[in-house]
Amino acid sequence: MVLPIHTYGDPVLRTEADAVEADSPELQAFIDDMIETMRGAQGIGLAAPQVGRSIRLFVVDLEPLADREEEESAEWPEQPMVFINPEIEAETEEECAYEEGCLSIPDLREEVMRPEGVRVRFLDRAFREQTVDAYGILARVVQHEIDHLDGVLFVDLLTSFRRKLLQRRLREMSRGAVEAEYPLAPLEGAGARD
Ligand code: ZN
Repeated sequence: MVLPIHTYGDPVLRTEADAVEADSPELQAFIDDMIETMRGAQGIGLAAPQVGRSIRLFVVDLEPLADREEEESAEWPEQPMVFINPEIEAETEEECAYEEGCLSIPDLREEVMRPEGVRVRFLDRAFREQTVDAYGILARVVQHEIDHLDGVLFVDLLTSFRRKLLQRRLREMSRGAVEAEYPLAPLEGAGARD
């Protein structure tokens, strides 16, 4: 089932998510829904708060990039990946710029600086403990998605100059002026969407 995606201005995106306590058939069905929602929206990552659920879980699917990123993709674990209660254990000192977008902030892409590589520990969907050393796009997506679990959005990481330039657009978005080619959740307190 495709779930509607919550957009910029929705309080759920600014809430620190709770740890996942236990596996259940309901959780497994939710993970399937998240993967379907991510793919339906042509995203490569989706965090639970983006579909209105404040728990520490996200999904990643880099498969659509495999052809373009032939060299890097050889290092990717099997896709899609499910990350439950992820923790960044280490990160490289070197940072790099990469253009990011977000399904919760449609049509906006900006360069963001982040560590080039991270070591991330998490539970997979079978609740087995995993540790992955992620570089390149995988490191980028993992950091972006973990930020979602802490109520942080990529636009928070822009220089104050870039943020100023985007201020109006973001303000409009937080009032409900947002469209996408995938289902969006109604924004609380905002005007109705067509
Ligand atoms: Zn995002």
